[in-house]
Amino acid sequence: MSDVVIPFRADAALERGLEGRGVSREDALSLMDQAPLAALLQSAAAVRDRFKGSSVSYSRKVFIPLTHLCRDYCGYCTFRADPQSGVRPYMTPYEVLAVAEAGRRAGCKEALFSLGDQPERVFPEAKEFLQTLGFDTTLEYLAAMSELVLTKTGLLPHSNPGVMGEKDLRRLRETNVSVGLMLESASPRLGRPGGAHWKAPDKVPSLRLRTIETAGQLSMAFTTGILIGIGETPEERVDALLAIRAVHEKHGHVQEVIVQPFRVKPDIRMALAPEPSNNDLLRTIAVARLILGGRMNIQSPPNLLSEDYPDLLKAGINDWGGISPVTKDFINPEAAWPQVSTLAAKTASAGFVLRERLAIYPEFTSWPEFTSGPEFTSRPEFVNERLQPYVRKLQGGDGYAQGECDQC
Ligand code: SF4
Repeated sequence: MSDVVIPFRADAALERGLEGRGVSREDALSLMDQAPLAALLQSAAAVRDRFKGSSVSYSRKVFIPLTHLCRDYCGYCTFRADPQSGVRPYMTPYEVLAVAEAGRRAGCKEALFSLGDQPERVFPEAKEFLQTLGFDTTLEYLAAMSELVLTKTGLLPHSNPGVMGEKDLRRLRETNVSVGLMLESASPRLGRPGGAHWKAPDKVPSLRLRTIETAGQLSMAFTTGILIGIGETPEERVDALLAIRAVHEKHGHVQEVIVQPFRVKPDIRMALAPEPSNNDLLRTIAVARLILGGRMNIQSPPNLLSEDYPDLLKAGINDWGGISPVTKDFINPEAAWPQVSTLAAKTASAGFVLRERLAIYPEFTSWPEFTSGPEFTSRPEFVNERLQPYVRKLQGGDGYAQGECDQC
């Protein structure tokens, strides 16, 4: 028996967390501050086990960096770039298709579009490129490239293009099975001079929450999450998770929540900032599990923790995110993804089974034949009619990917 004395408030919060229905703000704060890490991890893992069983999922994806141009200057970003002479501002349709096709040949099922936010609003080079191809905005071009990839390769697009309005989301809904926007933080404080989100007008939390809310109104399966270690307080982390929970409670559309740690890179404004420790990351994931409850899919990328990544399972995640066999992680280029076979072996050693999922989770694609299991609710509205044949083609009988192969 453990001789660790757990403060009464944290002990009671752990008890309530174990129910898996989501703890209050007060409980979450006491878990963040006072709960012994071992007890916290145990509770989070128990909730995950009860609601998600032994399956841990990933998506086999190809990464398509449509443009590195971005009008924001986040302090931790190595992805963004200003226009450079001799460098085309966007990938051409030919290049997009070539990367997607390489992904298809390598067994990928997801085409992840990543790009900077609204570069055409500040860079004439971006505007000019788009106009040459007949588009006014990056988001219009993205929709056209999603269409190209979907119809020519059958890969399912998932786009991560920054802040989106209703019209943009409606357009992407025709081709994307899900879309994503990290909330990152709910703290406007980070936008002050010198902060991580200084000179990043698209990182205003209320704007990002509005995008997440609008996607919910349109029944779009949505990926979001928080980025930790960028100057936020533990309390602000809790508030960001609660903001995600609140919008999900209204619309039921958040398919996964990512808890991602800040990683230092030599050429960023925050090059001297400390990284969050592994224990800090594990604590935050566990609190996220207890705030968001047992049904939520919680993800943390394995490539940001090097060899220690199986520890993330102890904190209550049930998803590794996208793994690409053909392209690097353009957001964290220094951190290679593990091979799927290694990921499967390490997941198995920890007592779990690696399952390949699509860019939309099984519980969001409830065709009539999949509605019998306890995890499946009847919500076919999340995949519009036009996309349904594409999804069915790649989906196996229980909603995960067809022909899963964890050795490839
Ligand atoms: S993190 Fe995203 S929004 Fe911020 S600078 Fe990088 S690409 Fe732009």
